[in-house]
Amino acid sequence: MAMLPFKLVYSEGYYLPIGQHVFPAQKYRLIYQRLITSGLAEAADFVEPKPANDKDILLVHTSEYVYKLQYGTLSAQEELQMEIPYSEELVDAFWLAAGGSIAAANHALEDRVAFNIGGGFHHAFPNHGEGFCMIHDVAVAIRRMQKDGRIKRAMVVDCDVHQGNGTAAIFGNRQTLERQLPSYHAPSRPPGESSGTDVFTISLHQQNNYPAIKPPSSIDVNLPDHTTDEQYLAWLDNAVSSGLRQFEPELLCYVAGADPYKEDQLGGLDLTIEGLKRRDEFIFKVALTRNIPVMVTFAGGYANKVEDTITIHCNTVTAAKEMYSRNLAGQDVTRRN
Ligand SMILES: [Zn+2]
Repeated sequence: MAMLPFKLVYSEGYYLPIGQHVFPAQKYRLIYQRLITSGLAEAADFVEPKPANDKDILLVHTSEYVYKLQYGTLSAQEELQMEIPYSEELVDAFWLAAGGSIAAANHALEDRVAFNIGGGFHHAFPNHGEGFCMIHDVAVAIRRMQKDGRIKRAMVVDCDVHQGNGTAAIFGNRQTLERQLPSYHAPSRPPGESSGTDVFTISLHQQNNYPAIKPPSSIDVNLPDHTTDEQYLAWLDNAVSSGLRQFEPELLCYVAGADPYKEDQLGGLDLTIEGLKRRDEFIFKVALTRNIPVMVTFAGGYANKVEDTITIHCNTVTAAKEMYSRNLAGQDVTRRN
């Protein structure tokens, strides 16, 4: 019997065959094991994904790039830019991750929330890979949901410490005042009209970090080094509130990076494990209050101790379990604590 009021999409095939690397390739398996051993989830909560079809991948990526991946003809420079070593097995893992995000999006639309215990490869561009990301699974899932007529409008809320440059490049942007000034109160507009976009992108990230060039999201929040829990949560509230004043999504894609953590090797923010869980709770609370389905992906996490990365990711599942079980019980989630 399932323990959770939502599905966790996971496969052993998520393992990235990249050898010794700052990216902990085994983290998906460790998250799976921790979810089981902690009693948070059991086998019946998990769904095995199928790999994405090439047609799905091509909704986002160029045929030239997909050809290079499938025939192993990336240039040395292109492989360096991806920062993970090319192999056919790696291609399979990314096609599977994209299929996992498609499955998670479908389940989210049924159950209000669903997780891909993987994914969040937000640095992948239509025509190249970057920063450990080959295929933009979240974008593929959004485009597939749109193609299937399940949604028209999606919002990406990217809380990885690194800016979602691939997401921004794929979905374009609008020049908004909010981008420079997240506290600006936008005039309300009819949702989906005059917004000029079908995917609204929000990225909260450390300014002084990769990627050096940050193509504009709909809203970018460039955080200073050593941003604390309280500061981060205030900026997140500002950005999400501002986004939802101007855009009404039918699916929220939450990129729940673990790397804003103060002990992350590739991050320079000062969030605590508890602060990161409050971040997760905030996202779920907003989504529940507004009745927006949420698809969660995990993106980066490079804590000095891999156990911390696992804890932060598992806490996102805990946060959803607490929020959505409570809501099922008919209690008022907005009055929590
Ligand atoms: Zn990251």
